[in-house]
Amino acid sequence: MEKGVIFDIKRYSIHDGPGIRDTVFLKGCPLRCWWCHNPESQAFEPVVIYKADRCIGCGACERVCPKGAIRLTQRGFVADPELCDNCGACVKACPAEARELIGQEVTTQWIMDEIEKDVLFFDESKGGVTFSGGEPLSQPKFLEELLMECKKKDIHTAIDTTGYAPTEVLMRIAPYVDLFLYDIKLMDEKKHEFYTGVSNQLILHNLHALSESGASIWVRVPVIPGVNDSQEELDAISSFVSTLGGVEHVNLLPYHGTAVHKYEQLGMSYLLKDLKNLTKEEVGKFSRIFEDKNLKVKIGG
Ligand code: SF4
Ligand code: SF4
Repeated sequence: MEKGVIFDIKRYSIHDGPGIRDTVFLKGCPLRCWWCHNPESQAFEPVVIYKADRCIGCGACERVCPKGAIRLTQRGFVADPELCDNCGACVKACPAEARELIGQEVTTQWIMDEIEKDVLFFDESKGGVTFSGGEPLSQPKFLEELLMECKKKDIHTAIDTTGYAPTEVLMRIAPYVDLFLYDIKLMDEKKHEFYTGVSNQLILHNLHALSESGASIWVRVPVIPGVNDSQEELDAISSFVSTLGGVEHVNLLPYHGTAVHKYEQLGMSYLLKDLKNLTKEEVGKFSRIFEDKNLKVKIGG
């Protein structure tokens, strides 16, 4: 059995594909989107977070840290990311659960045991399991085995992907995936590189290849003010998507800044701090850009 690193299993989700689903979050992502809602997912290994609002200031973490990484600052007992190797000693020492290790290595069997507890809900709601992240394709062998096990048990499978993975990996797992939730962020390659850290060429190529293979796809577009909410950019995305077969609909995911606190807990900077949420009118306007190209649009996940 393969092993992999996950950071959460969300039960009874209704936003990650059809019906009631379990969403398994695999850790690690090659992209660094400025608006990432799961920054704790980005590193491939487990990471320690610090919740200053729970800290009682006892200093136990500072005393046990073998790397001398923790210092008392204005933000509390903060670890220096340059020194911390996420060993977890401070998590064990903390009496207030103010430090938490995010991520654990598990086997395919362990996950299947968890998933199988919810099979009745899947059957009744036409739901199933969604593998998300992070980028699930970044742990290809683990993901492939999980998908194959689900198929053996006749469980509907979806993957929520950035599409940034070798085409060969994507096409190898495709026969075991009932639905792809596929993110498209920007068509402008330079802007894509600037805001996500990688080129979009492989992502667009892979989406095209999936579409040609007959896969079922929901395209997901996070709409970020000032990044991709211009008429020009949304026109470009909708024009590209409208040429593809297999796209059942487009999910527009309006920006919201609810993940800011996670960046604080991880000691990371959040580059979009002052962004305003989109209005209903703006979202309606964006929706029409896609509908005008004969695409079915849903707002939200
Ligand atoms: S995880 Fe380990 S190295 Fe990092 S701050 Fe805690 S005790 Fe120190
Ligand atoms: S051990 Fe926990 S409660 Fe004590 S100072 Fe460190 S984070 Fe705060």
